[in-house]
Amino acid sequence: MTNTLNGTVALVTGASSGIGAATARALAARGASVALVARRKDRLDELAADIRADGGTALAIEADITDPAQARSAVEQAVASLGRLDTLVNNAGVMLLGPIEDAPVEEWDRMVAINVQGLLYTTHAALPHLLAAASAGPRDSADVVNVSSVAGRVARSGWGVYNLTKHGVGAFSESLRQEVAGRHVRVTLIEPGAVATELASHIRPEIRAAAQRAFSDLELLTAEDVAETIAFAVTRPARVVINEILLRPDTAA
Ligand code: NDP
Repeated sequence: MTNTLNGTVALVTGASSGIGAATARALAARGASVALVARRKDRLDELAADIRADGGTALAIEADITDPAQARSAVEQAVASLGRLDTLVNNAGVMLLGPIEDAPVEEWDRMVAINVQGLLYTTHAALPHLLAAASAGPRDSADVVNVSSVAGRVARSGWGVYNLTKHGVGAFSESLRQEVAGRHVRVTLIEPGAVATELASHIRPEIRAAAQRAFSDLELLTAEDVAETIAFAVTRPARVVINEILLRPDTAA
């Protein structure tokens, strides 16, 4: 491994399942103390216990990051308990697919609230700590990793508002990258294709069935595939700044 994460602290949003849980494990395996943030505290407690059993350090923080006060409090709890913040993984998200015509607009509100606003609030709260860690840390750099999607690059019928949120994450990431460039905070956008997680379980059943049929012949990525990709990006030497990674299953779509 090029550069371990010993002595560093990572906060992962959406750590109660899927890509977030796998990423927390991957960063802890490389020596990071990890703050696990999501709403399902029982899941976080289980994961924290597993990481501790493997010799790592983990803190479970129950928070709904669509509330700016809870997002800020999650960051502050992580820094107060674990001492610093070197890596932020903005991973929490929902994907509620369906046509724009006749859509239940509360689904749009949920996607914008978590995929966009939650990411903004958490980043805003974390940034001072990341800048401080970058100038006085074991790695000479800090990282913001934003989990977008292929849907952040390619828009499709039936994906409109999810596309909107993930394209927004891409634009925000590039703007943030320019703002902090030269201050040793690296910004990395991760754009996975279809990954086998709970993400599709929140889609309305009639739409979910059609979406699942589209992927039925495909060997999906695993959460661990994405987690290893994130771990690769944040363990490069400080001079190497990986801004964007697009990873897909073996499909033309
Ligand atoms: P999961 O449904 O397994 O994970 C989503 C996570 O987000 C859960 O841990 C959930 O925790 C958390 N979350 C949702 N709402 C909130 C909230 N209000 N506050 C805090 N945490 C919240 O799906 P994935 O692992 O697949 O998704 C992770 C990210 O990856 C998402 O941003 C998704 O868009 C992206 N992605 C996924 C792909 C896929 O095919 N699976 C492909 C491309 C990108 P809890 O409910 O406990 O709060």
